[in-house]
Amino acid sequence: MSNVIEHWRDGMVFAGSSSATAPVTNPATGAVTGEVALASVEDARAVIDSAAAAFPAWRDASLAKRASVLFAYRELLNKRKGELAEIITSEHGKVLSDALGEVSRGLEVVEFACGIPNLLKGGFTENASTKVDVHSVLQPLGPVGIISPFNFPAMVPMWFFPIAIAAGNTVVIKPSEKDPSASLWMARLWKEAGLPDGVFNVLQGDKTAVDELLTNPKIKAISFVGSTPIAQYVYATATAAGKRVQALGGAKNHAVILPDADLDLAADAMVNAGFGSAGERCMAISACVAVGPIADELVAKIAERTITIKTGDGTKDSDMGPLVTKVHRDKVATYIDAGEAAGAKVVVDGRTVMDGAGDRDPSGFWLGPTLLDNVTPEMSVYTDEIFGPVLAVLRVETYDEALALINSNPYGNGTAIFTNDGGAARRFQNEVEVGMVGINVPIPVPMSYYSFGGWKASLFGDSHAHGAEGVHFFTRTKAITTRWLDPSHGGINLGFPENK
Ligand code: NAD
Repeated sequence: MSNVIEHWRDGMVFAGSSSATAPVTNPATGAVTGEVALASVEDARAVIDSAAAAFPAWRDASLAKRASVLFAYRELLNKRKGELAEIITSEHGKVLSDALGEVSRGLEVVEFACGIPNLLKGGFTENASTKVDVHSVLQPLGPVGIISPFNFPAMVPMWFFPIAIAAGNTVVIKPSEKDPSASLWMARLWKEAGLPDGVFNVLQGDKTAVDELLTNPKIKAISFVGSTPIAQYVYATATAAGKRVQALGGAKNHAVILPDADLDLAADAMVNAGFGSAGERCMAISACVAVGPIADELVAKIAERTITIKTGDGTKDSDMGPLVTKVHRDKVATYIDAGEAAGAKVVVDGRTVMDGAGDRDPSGFWLGPTLLDNVTPEMSVYTDEIFGPVLAVLRVETYDEALALINSNPYGNGTAIFTNDGGAARRFQNEVEVGMVGINVPIPVPMSYYSFGGWKASLFGDSHAHGAEGVHFFTRTKAITTRWLDPSHGGINLGFPENK
């Protein structure tokens, strides 16, 4: 069989014993470009065993050694990020500049993790009691599992694995079966950077592979990113198996445009955040909430920009690529049908961009950017996470209505407000029940040294990704109480020790 995308264990590709595979396509041409291996339980155990075997030595590797491997990985990734971007575009479809942007955001987490010696400093208290000292250390957990979604095949795993590895854990990543090749490229790069075999492993597969990671006692923690129903399942299953879990779920991100906003800035932002990566971003803006009398003017400005977007092959000179699969493209299109049937006004209709035209391959999974006006909260185009290039405009009269809309939505990943009123912006950042907030910034993805994560149905667990919360997630604290200089213990005393 040609181009089977296999697993990676013990520093080399691993075919596994299962003959099951799933097709991987190039969304811009519809061509099947490979078959990804789907692990059996035995294959999954073999990959997990590789991570378990590598753990004792990697846990004891000095911080100097771990940091030097991270630096080497950073240098290699920075030099060769173009290769990774091409792999992403060929299986995901996003335009090359966007794929490069994703790699760059992942690279920032590698850079953060290069500072691991500083991040792992514990505390020390001298003379907590007479001649008794107390100190704390942060130790790694063991082998950890990372399960990632299709929409960021490089960045999302990189939210987790640089910090996990730097902190002394070993890793098994289970990429999306829709775009699995980036993971193998990253595995080879780790080997080149000098990471010992078995510290970074790749398990290709579907639910069978995921379920083994969630329940195998050798796996100590799970970092998951994907849709909310699967995030909930992952959280419930892995915590029941005694693991530490962070499960990031889906999103419905609102942008509030107040009447005093710079409408040109806001319209640019709505187009960029609504249609970038064909709306297949967990931080995409899918609901634009126009407040007060500006709605007509705002919709006109968004529309005039939307019609200039060139939808096409991500390797060519396009603004927006195809959707990831034909099934997904068709599903997104039916949401537009449903919105129209429910009374939304189709201002720009992406369904006219479903066939090949210009330099679009007729077999690609195309859908143009779509702008819907007069959307109301009961419509499925608003209630569901569509994950496509569909921007819904909802019209409200006041700031309070806009805030109530966002706070009553089950998701709470990202949000933004556009205004020139500092007081209104400050009120919004204080009152909105969402994990990541932008003020005149439509996609407020936190830097690597802050933490990324939503609230409500957008995150199950209590740790966000990377930053201080990432270090916290991938380590556990040990507190040690020591008496050296005065071995006399005052004789037998069965009472609880008191500090004197
Ligand atoms: P998905 O939930 O379908 O898949 C995510 C992962 O779970 C994949 O590795 C997949 O193989 C696995 N999986 C799928 N079904 C499973 C099942 N029944 N049992 C066990 N494992 C299963 O998500 P997707 O379509 O790949 O990605 C898009 C979703 O991810 C969107 O909902 C998006 O909002 C979300 N996402 C969220 C964030 C965030 O930070 N909150 C970031 C990126 C993507």
